[in-house]
Amino acid sequence: MGLTMPLPARRLRLRVRGTVQGVGFRPFVHGLAQRLHLAGFVLNDGDGVLVEVEGWDVDGFVRAIKEEAPPLARIDALEVAAVAPDGRPGFAILSSETGKVQTRIPADAAICPDCLRDLFDPHSRFHLYPFVTCTHCGPRYTITRGLPYDRPQTSMRTFPLCPACLRDYTDIASRRYHAETLACPVCGPRLDHPVDHILDYLDRGLIVALKGIGGYHLLCDATSEQAVVRLRQRKNRESKPFAVMVADTDAARSIAHVGKAERDMLCHRARPIVLLQSRGKVASSVAPNLTQVGVVLPYAPLHHLLFRSNRDRVLVVTSANPGGEPLVTDDDDARLRLADIADTIVGHDRPIVVRADDSVMTAHRSGPVLVRRARGFVPDAVDLGEDGPAVLALGAHLKTTVTVTRGSEAFVSQHVGSLDNAATIAFYEETVAHLLALTGVRPERVVCDLHPDLYGSRIAGRFGVPVVQVQHHAAHVAAVVAEHRVRGPVLGVALDGHGYGADGGAWGGELILLDEDGWRRVGHLAPLAMPGGDKAAREPWRMALSIYDRLGRLDEGARRFDAFELARLMPRLTMLRTSSMGRVFDAAAALLGVCSVQHYEGQAAMELEALVQTPRILDAGFAITDGVLDLLPLLAALADPDIDRVTGAELFHGTVVRAVSEWVADQAERLGITTVALGGGCMVNRVLADGLAQALTRHGLHGLFSSQVPAGDGGLSLGQAYMGRLPKCV
Ligand SMILES: [Zn+2]
Ligand SMILES: [Zn+2]
Repeated sequence: MGLTMPLPARRLRLRVRGTVQGVGFRPFVHGLAQRLHLAGFVLNDGDGVLVEVEGWDVDGFVRAIKEEAPPLARIDALEVAAVAPDGRPGFAILSSETGKVQTRIPADAAICPDCLRDLFDPHSRFHLYPFVTCTHCGPRYTITRGLPYDRPQTSMRTFPLCPACLRDYTDIASRRYHAETLACPVCGPRLDHPVDHILDYLDRGLIVALKGIGGYHLLCDATSEQAVVRLRQRKNRESKPFAVMVADTDAARSIAHVGKAERDMLCHRARPIVLLQSRGKVASSVAPNLTQVGVVLPYAPLHHLLFRSNRDRVLVVTSANPGGEPLVTDDDDARLRLADIADTIVGHDRPIVVRADDSVMTAHRSGPVLVRRARGFVPDAVDLGEDGPAVLALGAHLKTTVTVTRGSEAFVSQHVGSLDNAATIAFYEETVAHLLALTGVRPERVVCDLHPDLYGSRIAGRFGVPVVQVQHHAAHVAAVVAEHRVRGPVLGVALDGHGYGADGGAWGGELILLDEDGWRRVGHLAPLAMPGGDKAAREPWRMALSIYDRLGRLDEGARRFDAFELARLMPRLTMLRTSSMGRVFDAAAALLGVCSVQHYEGQAAMELEALVQTPRILDAGFAITDGVLDLLPLLAALADPDIDRVTGAELFHGTVVRAVSEWVADQAERLGITTVALGGGCMVNRVLADGLAQALTRHGLHGLFSSQVPAGDGGLSLGQAYMGRLPKCV
């Protein structure tokens, strides 16, 4: 080896943006600098993380930053600039500088494998401690008031660190270095009852209200019919399915079918509830008349303690949200509102700052799909792929969310709920304020629905900036387009419950052409009368009666549903008409005797889907005329008294798939478009979504589906935000 001249030291300044605070980024950077013998510093500030490194292998450092980032980090942008070396030795972690808020809080994450080991290690000071966490796991969003993410900004600020925790907190080699959630049995939050107390109640078939990460849950033994029925009675929840928690994926396999996609979702660090095909091992009242069961694995250390003595335990774990109001988060509120439901209430002294329900996911042919987006996914941003004006989108009425955009990022809030009671409206207001504060955005435009009476439409003017109104189904299509970052014209299909149409009608089965100039309706389902107006959405038998009327067999319908008075009046009434696909599902379910009155939104369609093994096609079951799809021949077949419900459900699904795909293909060909965006609440139906994905491919079309946000109203605010940023929409 000959002598080489040493290269001169270089100094780089790195600006790292994304989810880089509260995820162990500074110790990671410190470790890298030591490994590569670099001097300099790292600090958190309002823009993310700022690093300066000086030495020879600064390029290796830049590479490693991208490749080896800690588990909860997400780097969206890395800017690198050369600066003058200053020759000072050593690498320092400097304290946080507060300033303009321009960064993010991570989403809540399930306990990590290392903390799980600590939890069950008798020699660990965290042995059996229900609040063990580290830099790689634990609550984040739900305990944080504001940015930058530091202990004084979280609900941990009332727990001063004991000497042992302080040592970990300040030890750069510890995985709890600067872990803001760090606490131990000496200095941290405490459960107000021992874990054995909870297990004792559960084993006796009683109901426990338990404070979790994003709110209180109600728990009972999911294998005890008696316990589950009692919970239904006390919660006044007749049939809406409950989710269950099991110890691990093996336990999940014992009660349901778990494929690879399902396993990945169950083990995702967000730990969503995953919809699985049930093996019928839980009490039938857990999910009445459905073949799927929602399963979630333990995510808080406390949950793991519930399964320590019995790995086969199956627990109902359902949101404690009495009367359709938001999830209970506050301890006093729990004692007040859950006393009549739960036999015991178990809380702790770590406050929940931000409410977040469990997220819900399912696997479709197109990939994993979010049905409800909340804990574990919020506040991660959806990448819109390009900059645009900052907008606030106020969402829908049912199952709503709100969205705030900042540059190319869209922050979709957690599931808020349906804005039909004061408590949910208060949570909605809180969510708007919190999301604006967290993102530091002052909206340039506010987007709301076309319907003038919705709560969002009524408050849109208060922000003092231009208001953009967006039609409900155009927004559904736009949500899919936003997520997939498509450019150019797209043919959209919205198959949905109900939304206010541009002509004032009740839309919900729409073909929409969307491009950067805006949108245009290019097709719709043949409208059906809604006897009883809004009541028809809750009582599917009314939609069935409407079908009998169209078939000229009103007398038969009146006899079947004991609705002589309504049938007598119908010919003389001017009835609201709807092009909603959701109402067609309702009509089919009622005609087949599957469901005539709904106790929760989507019940009829879910029970109908549950009957399907192999979808079948009824030839000549539909007609397409000038962009209008009429399914009357199919519905006439379902009105046949001799048809059995399984055959009917299979014919219905298969024929709807065939009909919709031909309807779409006709228009796509006419418009010369090959990209189709499918949205709306009906797309949660797996038979429908998978069938359409296959059928569109056969037509040479490229179908796009929602994945990161729900296809239903939970994703609507994202589509509104997308539309509100289009140049021509103001
Ligand atoms: Zn951990
Ligand atoms: Zn401690």
